[in-house]
Amino acid sequence: MSGSVKERLEAVLKKIAEAEKRSGRKSGVVDLIAVSKTFEADDIVPVLQAGHRIFGENRVQESQKKWPRLREEFDDIELHLIGPLQSNKAADAVALFDVIETVDRDKIARALAKEIKDQSKAVRCFVQVNTGEEPQKAGIAPRDTHMFVEKCRVDYGLNVVGLMCIPPADENPGPHFALLRKLAKQVGVDQLSMGMSGDYETAIELGATQVRVGSAIFGSRGQALVGA
Ligand SMILES: *Cc1c(COP(=O)(O)O)cnc(C)c1O
Repeated sequence: MSGSVKERLEAVLKKIAEAEKRSGRKSGVVDLIAVSKTFEADDIVPVLQAGHRIFGENRVQESQKKWPRLREEFDDIELHLIGPLQSNKAADAVALFDVIETVDRDKIARALAKEIKDQSKAVRCFVQVNTGEEPQKAGIAPRDTHMFVEKCRVDYGLNVVGLMCIPPADENPGPHFALLRKLAKQVGVDQLSMGMSGDYETAIELGATQVRVGSAIFGSRGQALVGA
């Protein structure tokens, strides 16, 4: 990996634009979520200074240490939670994040709904789908997605805007992206959070509206902290 963080950010944005063009999609339809998990506030500053404002984190506690300070320095930051959420952290998550991408079970949906109401905060949600049906991975099974999204909307009043997936690490991601897109159509949501550093161009060709890119921008993370 070479160049400065700013140069790497620009390279990723350029590849996103090229992938949009290649796949006949409108320029600017895909949002880049810069995944800053494990990196310190000081590492994130150059990306903010370059003008980027949308970030993803996978841990509530870690985010609480970094983002309140950064939000004092920079306006209009949009923060996405992309890691698993425990219901006892729902209040903190709602207070800190603008978008929660990992709604994956009834208990979490209920806890989020209560907090969103109590805090009167507008939070957008994605339902995480376990497209590979991996037992160790979070997410709703593909066949249960429609019912779960309906439940989140009707019973809990959550603003479900899209679906999110993390394909199995050892498989071609294309079929998983295609499945997520098909499910989104069935369910009636139009945002798709899919694609990471290794496969975001493929994801864009298959309809991603947002890609979550970490290491291609920030560099590699310590192995112990990779995860989610
Ligand atoms: C870490 C993480 C990413 C970013 O992964 P990279 O390979 O570093 O781009 C994307 N999505 C989720 C859910 C993650 O946990």
